[in-house]
Amino acid sequence: MQQDLLSSLNPRQLQAVTAPEDSVLILAGAGSGKTRVLTSRIAYLLNEHLARTDEILAVTFTNKAAKEMVTRLETMLPYDLRRMWVGTFHGLCNRILRRHAEFAALPKTFQILDSGDQLSLIKRVMKAANVDPEKTDAKYVQNFINWSKEHGLRSSQVTGSDCDETTKSLYVEYERQCQREGVVDFAELLLRCYELLERNELVRTHYQHRFRHILVDEFQDTNILQYRWLKLLAGAGLGPDGCSLNAVFAVGDDDQSIYAFRGANVGNMEDFLKDFRVAEPIRLEENYRSTGTILDAANGLIAKNSGRLGKNLWTSGARGEKIIVEELPDDRAEARWVVDDIEHERGRGTVYRDFAVLYRMNSQSRAMESALASAGIPYRVYGGLRFFERAEVKHVLAYLRLLTNPWDDTSFLRIVNFPTRGIGAKTIESLTLEARARGVSLWAALSDDTVKVPPKLAAFHSLILKMRTDAQTMSLDKAIRYTITASGLRDAYMKEKDGEDRVANMDEILSAAKGYLENEGIRPEHCAFEPVSDDSPSPLEGFLTQATLEAGDKNEDASTDAVQLMTVHAAKGLEFKYVYIIGAEEGIFPHFSALKETEKKGGRGGLEEERRLMYVAITRAKKRLVISHCRERLLYGNNFSNPVSSFVNEIPQELLDIRELARSRRDDDDDGFDAYFDDYGRKSGSSGRGGYGGYSKSGRGSTGGYGARGASGYGSRASGSSLSPETRAAF
Ligand code: ATP
Ligand code: MG
Repeated sequence: MQQDLLSSLNPRQLQAVTAPEDSVLILAGAGSGKTRVLTSRIAYLLNEHLARTDEILAVTFTNKAAKEMVTRLETMLPYDLRRMWVGTFHGLCNRILRRHAEFAALPKTFQILDSGDQLSLIKRVMKAANVDPEKTDAKYVQNFINWSKEHGLRSSQVTGSDCDETTKSLYVEYERQCQREGVVDFAELLLRCYELLERNELVRTHYQHRFRHILVDEFQDTNILQYRWLKLLAGAGLGPDGCSLNAVFAVGDDDQSIYAFRGANVGNMEDFLKDFRVAEPIRLEENYRSTGTILDAANGLIAKNSGRLGKNLWTSGARGEKIIVEELPDDRAEARWVVDDIEHERGRGTVYRDFAVLYRMNSQSRAMESALASAGIPYRVYGGLRFFERAEVKHVLAYLRLLTNPWDDTSFLRIVNFPTRGIGAKTIESLTLEARARGVSLWAALSDDTVKVPPKLAAFHSLILKMRTDAQTMSLDKAIRYTITASGLRDAYMKEKDGEDRVANMDEILSAAKGYLENEGIRPEHCAFEPVSDDSPSPLEGFLTQATLEAGDKNEDASTDAVQLMTVHAAKGLEFKYVYIIGAEEGIFPHFSALKETEKKGGRGGLEEERRLMYVAITRAKKRLVISHCRERLLYGNNFSNPVSSFVNEIPQELLDIRELARSRRDDDDDGFDAYFDDYGRKSGSSGRGGYGGYSKSGRGSTGGYGARGASGYGSRASGSSLSPETRAAF
């Protein structure tokens, strides 16, 4: 098996997988086998007895990638991999914090705030501090707090040059309030864990001695704090001759750095060489994923960026077909065209799961979803409104959270009057004032004998107490069932007009919980509140944590055959036979905000980040790539008309099969293109828009390229890369 594992690798990959046990940096382009090499490295270390499973820590970018990696290793190796740690930075930090909560000054049952809950807590803090939301934007405060934490800055450390006094004082108060409630936000997970490792020698040395091998995928997207966390855990500089104690195996691609807007620091790659005493990064240059045409397009595009670390990417595989650039009248037509095309391509050895539709913004999925749904094609949306973010699901989770941590004000406020119990805003307000005066959580104030509590609120208090007592000995499944009913949520939703779906969603939590127990190897009858072992949480706490940390899509089951819909950001690291990049229009992709932004130092901001994002999108495709754009698009309730994305013009034109409205393949079909021309009342050449149907391939050829055609053809609408006034107005 070992031989099989190694023999399928090319010489460079083999060199990386079998490198001496020092730190290694692999710098290589998309599809060159970085993730595969990282996985093989783990298998190699275990098989050669260079490491035990509990000495390995692997960091992936998503929970899904973590699961895939473990599954793959399980098929390769005869070992029980449960003692190996594989997860995202957030997941791993959470795990460490749970084990040492008391050293991190957190209650053992601390809850995690998702971004929506964080925003509502900030709004409450603003209200308490009498800060006018018209003058100070809560979202801005949220971004500032997260930015600070990602840079390792506590409220006491931010200065006047970082923000104004109001924002700083809100940060101070926000930190206090989180502490009072026993809740942490995403950025806090990392910062708190970093501080724990930094300050607590016992904990730090424990992990430094445990994880002899740390492996990091998608290293280009680590932020400053994550990198510091890695250095600490690896004991950078603490080994002989200034090496690190533990070996870090990092793989990344500077051309795929797409999270600079969230603080990712591609400079970490250069620092890594210094900090971990790595002489030379290993470069992989053979691409195994895409056709030659797709690869050339990606290479041609990314060549326009400056300040790259530089690498070549080639393939010995087939050239494949040209990249289709399809123009459509509007977004609905675009969605229908994609659906038609999928139906057309499917069957010849392909299944729905081989198709991915990628877009720049979440909001673009709506038109695609309705077209797929009306064609009866199964699909799955990653990201967007996730299962665990749905209101009814969050309500159930809030009750469950109160059962383990009643001091969580966010959950308390979410359900104190839901289902309605006649508890008014005034009552809540006065309880909030009492709590604030005493410096305690709402639950603590409510439980305080000296606080005068109106009867309806007292009834709520009794309900939660009773639920806590009743559920105490129940299994997770029973506790959730009980909570949905005892809270009154089931009855309340049953009475609603469209309540059935909501009840079904609440019941779906039971499947999620079942899946959780199975994954964790916990017996279904294990008491929901009893820790499973000394260092793992109770089933209920573990489940609640997972619900917040993971996408938790209801249709997560990857075995269902469905078309995949996701943003380009979410597609990182994945590959599909067929890829559709929709909405390739100036102002959408590249996104307007990036065009507006002046390029940051070293050209790493704005447009260059968008170009890397397009590079990521293109390099997801294995066999066939389609890029579509619309003449008109409905977005945020407005119609926009923008020229084709300038990125399309940057791809070597000979690789493209450009199809305009008038000359579409579908144009010849009797059931296809004409149908929506009828719908939209714009038969070729009769729309009254100058030159609408008048472009022919030869015409385009003579104007020398797509951009030029756009500029002259769309006439007054727009020039090659500028934006229409409507777009400007909307952003
Ligand atoms: P990305 O930058 O997009 O994350 P990557 O560098 O991580 O890409 P992988 O996903 O590891 O690339 O590999 C791309 C594809 O090439 C996968 O399907 C992988 O199985 C395949 N592959 C990698 N190396 C080889 C090889 N030596 N022989 C055959 N197939 C390979
Ligand atoms: Mg990868």
